[in-house]
Amino acid sequence: MIANYHTHNRWCRHANGEIEDYVKVAIEEGFVELGMTDHVPHSDNIDPRRIQWEEIDEYDRLLNEAVEKYADRIRVIKGFECEYYPECMDEYAMLRDVYGYKLMILGQHRSGPNRIYDSFSRTKTAKEMHVYADAVCDGINTGFFHFLCHPDLALAGYGPGFDDEAESVMRQIFEECEKHDLPVEINGNGAYDGRAYPNREAFLLSKDYKLRYMINMDAHDPKYLRKEVYSVAEQFAADLGIEVMPMFEI
Ligand SMILES: [Zn+2]
Ligand SMILES: [Zn+2]
Repeated sequence: MIANYHTHNRWCRHANGEIEDYVKVAIEEGFVELGMTDHVPHSDNIDPRRIQWEEIDEYDRLLNEAVEKYADRIRVIKGFECEYYPECMDEYAMLRDVYGYKLMILGQHRSGPNRIYDSFSRTKTAKEMHVYADAVCDGINTGFFHFLCHPDLALAGYGPGFDDEAESVMRQIFEECEKHDLPVEINGNGAYDGRAYPNREAFLLSKDYKLRYMINMDAHDPKYLRKEVYSVAEQFAADLGIEVMPMFEI
């Protein structure tokens, strides 16, 4: 493991550790690059579990400090994990163009009208899966995002398991990724924690498509950048015969 492009920090209010703590662990583990991609702020501040809009300047100042302080040892890339919410796209573009957050990754945590559907719902319906897939595919189609985080979060909490509905949802998503050559993430955090994602059946199905894969740790604690966490996801990929890109060009 020489890079990680999906990293959080305490500013999202549900992760531990300062920005600098993650950078230090990444250096200890011998990383060449670290994408710092906390949950993107929204001007509506509807979601309290992320950086709040008025905190951007302070957050950005600390991140810039870390980028510069460790520049001779690691390349820290400024980015955000973003949902595809059409009403927020101008804000994302502003964060990219004005503040220099150039690594924008797509992680769809809510979807539907007024963001009513929680992707982590424990009672997910087939309809919710389809709404998630439509949102993800619309997001991919904008061409704005650099890779798709945990595509199989679609399936989390869906009782019937990997049935025809689940398969069609995952086919829709993988097809769109293939069409846009958008890399697909195998989520290390989920693999290590034994979550519903990464989903073995979904990734087995993904082999029907020509895809590029990456393992990211989705670290919400600095210790999740450690090799022993990564190796669980690495084993998951190896068991399925999936080859993973070691680095990602940005
Ligand atoms: Zn998070
Ligand atoms: Zn994340």
